[in-house]
Parts: sequence; structure tokens; C-alpha cells
Amino acid sequence: MRQSAGEQLLFGFSGRPQQGPRRRRSSTRGRAPRNARPTPRENARQGKLPLARKIDEAARLRLERRIGAHLRGELEVTVTDNRYSIISVKRARGRFEARLHHMFVDAEPRIVRALARYIARNDAEASALINAFIDKHQHKIRHSLPPPRRPPKLSTVGQFFDLQEIFDSLNERYFGGRIQAAITWGRRSNRPARRHRSVKMGSYAIEDRLIRIHSSLDRSFVPRFFLESVVFHEMLHEVHEIPVVNGRHHFHTPAFRAHEAQFEWAEASERWERENLNRLLYF
Ligand SMILES: [Zn+2]
Repeated sequence: MRQSAGEQLLFGFSGRPQQGPRRRRSSTRGRAPRNARPTPRENARQGKLPLARKIDEAARLRLERRIGAHLRGELEVTVTDNRYSIISVKRARGRFEARLHHMFVDAEPRIVRALARYIARNDAEASALINAFIDKHQHKIRHSLPPPRRPPKLSTVGQFFDLQEIFDSLNERYFGGRIQAAITWGRRSNRPARRHRSVKMGSYAIEDRLIRIHSSLDRSFVPRFFLESVVFHEMLHEVHEIPVVNGRHHFHTPAFRAHEAQFEWAEASERWERENLNRLLYF
């Protein structure tokens, strides 16, 4: 009966098929967890504007004029911070669009002339000159990957349960201490309590090795063994393969389910979940 023990509760509606996960996350339904990757706007707020954006319009215009002086036809230059495409040129009916890495902004005149020849007719000699220039200015190309997602702030101490303590205890009892995931309570919503149709009680984010437990479980009427069963389920995701069958990830394989059943309070947890669904869904 219990489709996805500990992970999500489906309540009060039927026929809505479980959707395959769009991301490689263990949970298959419910609101997608917020992506922790900062948006460009967040980056900008932190003063981490991509270099290309910091290049002022005056410098771009200067480069465009300098190259344009050696070209017949209209030229539009875009200055980039691209790691892979240092120069790209579109030519169409006497009009040129060139995307150039910012390393060229202050290039000496002979490079500027070479750029013009390259843009105009893919000139081989110009190309060699430019290649040498690029080699010399490799250090200006970003080599690092984009900054890693900010690690989410972990909050393990709840009002009633300490997730880290529960995790550590399970890790020792069932996994010989080898589970490395981090664990955190999900963010509490500030909205007033209301009845939900479902709650994703836990999730395991593969890329981040992060277990999130729904804060709805941090309540006085929730028995410890039930919370343990939810945490245990998510910990299993670190251990079990996730085969892809017909393009869908299978998070809960028979082996997974068999392993899950080894939890000492597995049956009691199922029963408790059935009997307390309504209370759990009110948060
Ligand atoms: Zn799961």
C-alpha cells in the first residue's frame, strides 16, 4: 500500500500518476526543492558580476571602432567572457557580427588589424597571429567552473528532534557509519497552517548528498521511530543503485524495498503513518 515509504504521502486523490523525476532526485513528486544555485541577479547583488558584464560600453565601442576602421561593411562587436568560444564571427551581406573575448579589448594595433582581416575573410595569416595572441593570454580565460552552489545552511536541531543525532544513531546501527550525506530540516513555511494534499516527508539530493526532512515532522505527536523510518529511507538512497529503465530513474527497486523493511520499526511506522496522515498533512 505504501508507495513510497517515508518519502511522500499521497492523500485524498487518486488517478494522478506519479511522475517520473525530472531531475536526478530521489523524490518523485511534490514541489521541486529550490535550486540552490544563485541566479545572475543574486550574483550581481553579491558583486560577482560575470567579467563580461563589467566591461564597459566605452571599451566595447572602442574595440568595435578600431576593428571597424579596417573593415568594409558594418561591424557589431560583442565582448564576452566565454570560456569556449574566444572568437566567433557571423558574416551576412556585408555585415559582420563578432563575439570577441575580453582579452582583445586592449590588443595592440597589429592584432586589431588581424582581427579585421580574420572577420572579413577568415584570413589564414591573421588567424595564426590571433592564435598566438590567444595563447599568450590564456590566463584571461576563466578556467574554473562556475562557482559551486552555495551549500545550503543546515539546520539539524528542531524543536522536538535533533536530526543529526537521529542520523548518527541510524548510521551506526544500520550502516556501519558509512553514510556520508548531510541532513537538514527543510525550511519552515511561514504560511498559516493549512491542510495539504500531500507532503514530501523527505528527499535525497544526489548531487549535494543532502537529505532534507520536512519540518512538519518536527512535532510533539510524531514518534521518534516514525521520523527514524523517514530518515532511514533517505539514507538508503546513498547506498542503492538508481537504475534507469525506459528513461525513468527507479529509486525504489525491490532491493531498496527489501533493505527498507529491515528497519526495526518498519511495520509500526507504516501503521502510524496510515493512522496519522491527517495530522501530518496539517502544517
Ligand atoms: Zn525514496
